[in-house]
Amino acid sequence: MNKRLLTVFAHPDDAETAAGGSLLTWAAEGWELTLCVITDGDKGTNDPDDDPAAVVGRRRLEQSGAAARLGASVVYLGYEDGSLQPTLELRRDLVRVMRRVRPQRVVANDPTVWFRHGLYINHPDHRAAGQALVEAVYPAVKKVGIFPELLAEGLQPHVVEEVWLTPTDEPDTWIDIAPVLDAKISLICEHASQFSADSTRKAFTRIAAAAGKARGLAAAEAYRTLRLAANTVRALAGE
Ligand SMILES: [Zn+2]
Repeated sequence: MNKRLLTVFAHPDDAETAAGGSLLTWAAEGWELTLCVITDGDKGTNDPDDDPAAVVGRRRLEQSGAAARLGASVVYLGYEDGSLQPTLELRRDLVRVMRRVRPQRVVANDPTVWFRHGLYINHPDHRAAGQALVEAVYPAVKKVGIFPELLAEGLQPHVVEEVWLTPTDEPDTWIDIAPVLDAKISLICEHASQFSADSTRKAFTRIAAAAGKARGLAAAEAYRTLRLAANTVRALAGE
C-alpha cells in the first residue's frame, strides 16, 4: 500500500510555493497526496470590485489544476482568508482531516517563522496554520479522549510519524528539487491569478538556490523535521 502524505497550509498555493518540488518528487515515488487548504484565499485580489464568491471560485479552480498535476486530492476547510487563528475549532477540524486521511507524513508551515529573506513579514495565517497543525498532531490526533465527538463520527485515533515544516529558519533536511524545478514553477503558475510566469520563474529559482546552498545543491526545499517517537521517554533514553 502506498504511503500517505497530507499537506496542511493556510491558502491555496501555499503547498505548491513552499513544497511543490518535494511534492512532485514524492508523488513520483508513489506517495498518495492530500492537500488540506484551510482558508478559501478570498482576499487574494487587489480589485475592490471583485466579487468574493468569484475569487473563491477562481482560486478553487486554480487549486484543482495544481492538484491534478500532483495527482492529489484536496480538502477545503473554508475558513476566511486573512484572519486565521489557532483555535480549538481549527485544531478539531485538522484532527478530523488527519484521522480520515491517516497520513504517515504531514507537511505544514513552521509556526515559529516571523520574517523571511529580510524582505517580508510571514503572513499571520501561515503561523496560525502551523501552530494549529502542530497542536493537532500532539496530542489530539492520537488521544482517544480528546474530541470524543470525532470518535462518534467513527474517526479512530491516528499516529503521525513525521512532521515536515517549511519554510523554516532551522532546516535539518533538504530535498534536491533541481530535476523538478521547471515542473514546480509550472505547478505554482496554475495559480494564475496570483503569479506571473516571468517573476515566478526568477523568484523561485533564487529561493531554491538559496535553500540548497547550505548543502551544495543547485535547487532545494529545506525543512525542519520531527520524526515523532512512539514513546518520548524511551526515545530520550536511547532505547
Ligand atoms: Zn499563504
